[in-house]
Parts: sequence; C-alpha cells; structure tokens
Amino acid sequence: MYEDLNNKVAVVTGGSKGIGKSIAKRFGEEHMSVVINYHSDPDGANDAVNLIQTSGGKAVAVQADISQEQGANDLLQAALDNYGKLDIWVNNAGMENRVATNEMSLEVWQRVIDVNLTGVFLGSKTALNYFVKNNRPGNIINMSSVHEQIPWPGFAHYAASKGGVKLFNETIAMEYANKGIRVNAIGPGAINTPINAEKFADKQQLNDTLEMVPMKKIGDPEDVAAAAAWLASDQSKYVTGVTLFVDGGMTLYPSFQNGKG
Ligand code: NAD
Repeated sequence: MYEDLNNKVAVVTGGSKGIGKSIAKRFGEEHMSVVINYHSDPDGANDAVNLIQTSGGKAVAVQADISQEQGANDLLQAALDNYGKLDIWVNNAGMENRVATNEMSLEVWQRVIDVNLTGVFLGSKTALNYFVKNNRPGNIINMSSVHEQIPWPGFAHYAASKGGVKLFNETIAMEYANKGIRVNAIGPGAINTPINAEKFADKQQLNDTLEMVPMKKIGDPEDVAAAAAWLASDQSKYVTGVTLFVDGGMTLYPSFQNGKG
C-alpha cells in the first residue's frame, strides 16, 4: 500500500477485464477514485466497480472508444464530474490478432494502430492538456509490451504499435519532465488474461511460451498492477521515461539461459 495514493483520481482505459481490471482493483485497494473505461463489456466494468467499492475506493464505469478523441474527452469529463480532478491516467486498452503481413488488410492494420498507438496518444494528450492548463503535477502510465523490443512474426501491426508506444512514451516523458509530469510504460511479458486464454489452454502453446520465460511461469495480472501502483506512487518520484518490464526475464535473450552459444 502507498499512502500517497489515498484519494488520488485515476482513469484506466480498457478496465473491464485482464490487466486493466486488475489495475483498477489494485487502485481500489489503495483507496483511490477510479474512472473505469470499457469498450463493449459493461458487466466486466460493473464488476470492477464493485471490486473497488468493496475494498474502500470509489469507482464509476464509463463506455468510450479510446481510439476516438471524444472517447478520451468523455473519460476526463467523468473524472472531473465525479471526483473534481485527475491525478493519474493509465493507457491500458489494447488488442492483437495473428495475421501474416502479406495478407493483412489495411483495416486490420489500422484498427490495431488506432487502439494501441493512437489511443495512447489521445489518452496522453487529454491528460497532459489537463495537467498543463491547470498547472498540476501528473502521472501517465502507458501499457506497452515486451514487443516494443522483441519482433513478433504474425503480429507486425501489434509490434509496430508497441514500438511506437516506446518512443512516444520516452518523448512525452522528456517534453513534460520539467512540469512535474511523469510518464512511464510497463512492458508485460506473458500474462494470464483473456487475450491469452485460448493460447494458454493449449498445452503445447503454453509450453512453447514457458520456454521463452527464464522464470518458467506465466505472470499474473496482479504482477502488472503492482508495477502500475508503484509507478503511480511517489515511491517512483525520480523515475520518468522508462519501460518497466514485468516479464519473468523474457526480454533477457532466454535462448542463452543455459550458457549456450
Ligand atoms: P484484454 O483483452 O484482457 O483486455 C484489453 C482491454 O482493452 C479490454 O477491456 C478491451 O475492451 C479494451 N479495449 C480494446 N479496444 C478498446 C477501445 N477501442 N477502447 C477502449 N477499450 C478498448 O487484454 P490484456 O491482456 O488485459 O491487455 C491489456 C494491455 O496489456 C494491452 O495494451 C496489451 O497489449 C498489453 N499486454 C498484454 C500482455 C499479456 O500477456 N496479457 C502482454 C503484453 C502487453
């Protein structure tokens, strides 16, 4: 628990399931007030609201498409209407699908870029504009991936979007560092969420994934939420522009693990 997070106000995009829901729940345990954004799963979002309220935080669920500027504006407005301020904005929403690049339609490419990269831009822009105009310190957390660094055949749009998030994150961290605004990313590895449910249900695919993780285990969404809470808190007050990998060592060239080569 981080005492300085008490009564802080956060927006979490894509908070109805997976990592976003886990971050929302952790923020509730920190007694924060949370705007939980959902795209198409009101039940998941309402469940997240209940989890937060049960653990002593405040929460409201708001439908919005984060790839649209109006969506980001609606989330800020909900924070201001319900809680009177904004302290932390978590750009978590994301999507992926496997398509060979030579067969990838422009629509499929564009949708992943729109949600994973443009959504991060729109959320960040909205939060930054509020912090700057109101002369307030602020904190932005962008959900990147190990694939901001590791190429991923079949997921060129996803890897391109996360590579874009990496430099966007670093650039705005530098641009606003002297205004008391911190911007950091989290790079999850293989985490047990709905995005991976089918893959991890298949024993062969699960074992293939574990081969790529030096710690030989799949991460929990709570591991990512713990990183988000630390980055949101003052305990990380001298940290900006980093990607904090939460990946069991996946970015450490696991094929070298046994001293091979
Ligand atoms: P998930 O599919 O469980 O959740 C994704 C969330 O994003 C959902 O709530 C979905 O509704 C929301 N979303 C999608 N499009 C949206 C839109 N247009 N507007 C608003 N919300 C939208 O996935 P997850 O595993 O929880 O992933 C969360 C983030 O973590 C993503 O950015 C993902 O790329 C990243 N990530 C996940 C893993 C992993 O192993 N699970 C690894 C690396 C990175």
